[in-house]
Amino acid sequence: MREIYVKAPAKINLALHVRGLRKDGFHELQMIMQSISLADRIKLKKKSGGIIVKSSQTELPTNKENLAYQAAEIFFELNPELKQGVEIYIEKNIPIAAGMAGGSADAAAVMRGLYLLFELKPDLNKIRNSLADIGSDVPYCLEGGTVYASGRGEILEKLPFIGEKYLVVVTPSFKISTPAVYKLYDELEGYEKFDFKSVLANLKNKEEPDWNLDYKNDLKKAAEKICPEIKEIKNILNNTKAAFTMLSGSGPTVFSIYNSREQAEKVAASWPRKNDFVTVVKTIDSY
Ligand code: ATP
Repeated sequence: MREIYVKAPAKINLALHVRGLRKDGFHELQMIMQSISLADRIKLKKKSGGIIVKSSQTELPTNKENLAYQAAEIFFELNPELKQGVEIYIEKNIPIAAGMAGGSADAAAVMRGLYLLFELKPDLNKIRNSLADIGSDVPYCLEGGTVYASGRGEILEKLPFIGEKYLVVVTPSFKISTPAVYKLYDELEGYEKFDFKSVLANLKNKEEPDWNLDYKNDLKKAAEKICPEIKEIKNILNNTKAAFTMLSGSGPTVFSIYNSREQAEKVAASWPRKNDFVTVVKTIDSY
């Protein structure tokens, strides 16, 4: 095999609870993660040596700052017997710095793809541990589906898939720095009450999610302060027939879940704000 294409699906957060700031500087989190069909498409091609990253998005770094590059570097460190290198082309479809873990998704997809390309059997534990350092969401992106993530996001518990649901995903053109949102969160408030236990129990029992439970995102206030457009977008979505509307991760992406694909498509087709990225996607199970 000389080349291979892999998909790197984005994630949304159905719930995000910040439990506190740890001594190592990371926040202790409880999150419900869900993969969606919005995905980057990555081409991996063997080459004589070294790693090259190219992308359809010119603003993306192509050097070691790119998480896809870092994942490839780790792959070759884990498999020193390989004498070849790889060219990585990222067709970027996931908005950058938008709260959908685009960079982590690319890193996880490159790691999975390289094992396929070089026809090697992956040692999943080893891979997970070595990738956690490049981004807290990377271990989740290796798994996908509906997952309860804790610690700083790297402790994973697989949950029953919530089923195929249609969503409208809206991202304003404003880019948000995740560390800036957490910093403001720490400055803004004491920790709020969050009945995460009931949310988790609801998802474990395989019934339809009860959106009236405490599905929420603790980063909301901080993200809205940094990017007031989030509120405007939420106001528009709240006036549609959405079953549920939420901020994803540290934002600024907001999504709504609908009972039918038609409803979601109608909302997207008549979206009133000109410069937003708006798309209809569905939830997907593990890959
Ligand atoms: P998270 O929710 O995990 O914090 P995000 O979705 O908000 O992530 P990303 O799109 O992953 O944000 O990008 C965050 C930063 O990572 C950007 O500043 C970007 O330059 C850098 N980055 C490095 N590699 C990539 C990549 N392959 N795709 C996107 N961003 C990348």
